[in-house]
Amino acid sequence: MARYTDSVCRLCRREGEKLFLKGERCFKDKCAMERRAYAPGQHGQGRRMKQSEYSQQLREKQKVRRIYGVLESQFRGFFRKADRMRGVTGENLLSLLERRLDNIVYRLSFAGSRAEARQLVRHGHVRVNGHKVNIPSYVVSQGDQITLREKSKTQPRVVENFAAADRRGVPEWLELAKKEMAGVVRGLPQREHLTLDVQEQLIVELYSR
Ligand code: SF4
Repeated sequence: MARYTDSVCRLCRREGEKLFLKGERCFKDKCAMERRAYAPGQHGQGRRMKQSEYSQQLREKQKVRRIYGVLESQFRGFFRKADRMRGVTGENLLSLLERRLDNIVYRLSFAGSRAEARQLVRHGHVRVNGHKVNIPSYVVSQGDQITLREKSKTQPRVVENFAAADRRGVPEWLELAKKEMAGVVRGLPQREHLTLDVQEQLIVELYSR
């Protein structure tokens, strides 16, 4: 499967804001946005042009796609699904992305970033209702229980990430039993639960062109 292999910090610099793609590093001085808060490439520091409507819509879509680490074709698939659902398409889209298994593993602090969470899922460390699921784009449902394989709970990187669980906190639509390292989806995420600074309506407008 195709995947993005260049520096992810370039993506933050392109969007002009921190997307928090690298775990703890994002909170340190080493963050590229602290040092070079301008677009990457030869003309990154050049004159800023006024953004057209299309460009604003495109940038918003790219930002969300990059936050969740989803490639274009899969993102469109999520959009189509959101469009078929009842309710507001933009909000449905964010809710679906938030319910991706790799995002849940990240939200439960089993991983420091979504990329790391994705790897945990892909390598078969994650269980949903006791069954192995190794598909990062798997969308969880209300009541699902998410755990790690017993052996995986003691992996140094997992232990290190999980130590920050109190500081990071869990969204209110998830519940985390710390002792058992088990998360439960209490309810489906609503727009007010998502703290993302995103104008999802722009994405809907882009795909409706
Ligand atoms: Fe973005 Fe994190 Fe890199 Fe900073 S360290 S530029 S927030 S990915």
